[in-house]
Amino acid sequence: MSGAHGDAHRELRELLGAYALGHLGPAERDRVRAHLDGCPECRAELAGIAPLAARLAAVDPDALDATPTPPPDLGARVLARIAEEERRVVPLRRAVVRRRVLAAAAVAGVAAAGGAVGWALRPVSDPVPLEPVAVQAVDPGVEASAQLVPHTWGVEVKLTGTGFAAGEVYRVAVTDDAGREVPAGEFLGVGPQQMRCNLNSSVLRDDAVGFEVVDADGEVVVRSRF
Ligand SMILES: [Zn+2]
Repeated sequence: MSGAHGDAHRELRELLGAYALGHLGPAERDRVRAHLDGCPECRAELAGIAPLAARLAAVDPDALDATPTPPPDLGARVLARIAEEERRVVPLRRAVVRRRVLAAAAVAGVAAAGGAVGWALRPVSDPVPLEPVAVQAVDPGVEASAQLVPHTWGVEVKLTGTGFAAGEVYRVAVTDDAGREVPAGEFLGVGPQQMRCNLNSSVLRDDAVGFEVVDADGEVVVRSRF
């Protein structure tokens, strides 16, 4: 990254934690939103933060005092982000945020104890409107789900899945109503771990009729029709 976008990227990326927690003023919030529209990297980062931030807002720290703390690496990145947010807030709010960070650690511990993959223990709201779509895994080793975000510049596919072969490059294309397959990006499989990936195409939601995930051999492994 370089130039004006790179500067904005570095600055606004640090605000994503505060944005997800709803702590930004209207002007900063608008700047973050405008940047998110043009920056897939920050959108991916926010997608990782948003579910935990939403659950932090709902957690009662007192109810979690007895739960064990999680392994140090679990969710470390997200918690580090929230700790960064803690330094940013006004001193009067510090104690509250610190307790919330501890509560988040406790929640992470619960998730680890239950063998849960990911953070989704209860429904969370997302800052952008999401449209769930049916996904068919053609490869029996793959499990996947997807949601769409209708941007002004095209449709975004938020893909979640497991079983994409580790290290293999997968390509995603959105199909429009004229039958064109428009590239929406690539990702690397991470095997049995849960993979979350945001893929962006220039096809508007109204013109998009589906998407396909194709492996390195050109075989379709996941297909969706909207
Ligand atoms: Zn960015």
